[in-house]
Amino acid sequence: MAFWRKKKDESADEAKSSQAKQNSAAETGGVAAPAMQATETAEAPAKAQKEQTGVFGLLKRGLKKTVDLLNTDIRDIVGKDGRLVDEEFLRELFAHLVKTDMGVGPAGEIRDRIKSDFRGRKVYMKDLIESAKTTIRQIMDQPEMPIQLAESGTTVVMVVGVNGSGKTTSIAKLTRIFTSAGNRVVLGAGDTFRAAAVEQLKIWAERLGATIVTGKPGGDPASVAYQAVERAKNESADICIVDTAGRLQTQTNLMEQLSKIRRVIGKVIPDAPHEVLLVLDATAGQNAISQARGFSDAAGCTGIVLAKLDGTAKGGVAIPIRREFGIPVKYVGLGEKPEDLALFNVDDFVNALFDVE
Ligand code: GDP
Ligand code: MG
Repeated sequence: MAFWRKKKDESADEAKSSQAKQNSAAETGGVAAPAMQATETAEAPAKAQKEQTGVFGLLKRGLKKTVDLLNTDIRDIVGKDGRLVDEEFLRELFAHLVKTDMGVGPAGEIRDRIKSDFRGRKVYMKDLIESAKTTIRQIMDQPEMPIQLAESGTTVVMVVGVNGSGKTTSIAKLTRIFTSAGNRVVLGAGDTFRAAAVEQLKIWAERLGATIVTGKPGGDPASVAYQAVERAKNESADICIVDTAGRLQTQTNLMEQLSKIRRVIGKVIPDAPHEVLLVLDATAGQNAISQARGFSDAAGCTGIVLAKLDGTAKGGVAIPIRREFGIPVKYVGLGEKPEDLALFNVDDFVNALFDVE
């Protein structure tokens, strides 16, 4: 995983402590630096990201469909006077949990913990929820993982995924985080397949105060990526985000094109891209997982943005995604507006998901 732009052999622990430094710099650290002060660039974007935490309300609203489903189903089987924990109850509980697309593994673990803690006794809603939360926290165990910034200079983020998963919208949301803190952002309109895709990104760039680099329609996306990163570097921009056309993991030539984009980016800034974010559509439920499997290997993804979590009652899908891949869920998309993005926080997620009475 690409962390700070440091020695190649940096261990995971050192990387973690770099991350902690980044966060504490953000806490104690000063004002978001104007972009042209290149020495301040690593701290200012870090602060911008840190300020995105604590968006519990947004998460709760976004997960409403999933929460309503869980709330109704689980309350129905437990009842307000509690329920004896027997085989039948455990079966029903498992079936309702699986409906959220959390997968049979996590649902089974929640069931088994309830079984071992409460078997032969009555369980009440409150105890069941606490037990389920504990299980999921253990499964998802990951710290908040904002974008890993370059140690100095421009941070380059590449965004990949299948068609319509929410890439361009997520780019707008990430852009907003940085431009609203006064950081300079350059966008690369690397989806050259569709003229509408370039237009969409142009509108966002204008609205959010970012610079955009576009190429010819149907042109080489790697060339757009190169020009965007070069411009960002020359102008000492804090962040350069490169959009790409949607593709399937099975389209070998298109997956190879992603490698080419990565390579040309690395020619401009040796350790770039610093992040390759895979945008997954949460409404695709378990399908989102098979997408992630192919992409994370082929495109060298460093993190996931789980978009459209607000549009599904299957928000539990974040749980197996975290478990099955070495890459963390960094952000969740919770609506179509630029502010509808939350840095993924396990405690907030679990509390929002089980916000049941
Ligand atoms: P791309 O093809 O991967 O670039 O996908 P887009 O960013 O163009 O998004 C496809 C559609 O999904 C658009 O209509 C977006 O408004 C919508 N969308 C993207 N992210 C979210 C989200 O987090 N929540 C909701 N409700 N819609 C989203
Ligand atoms: Mg797009």
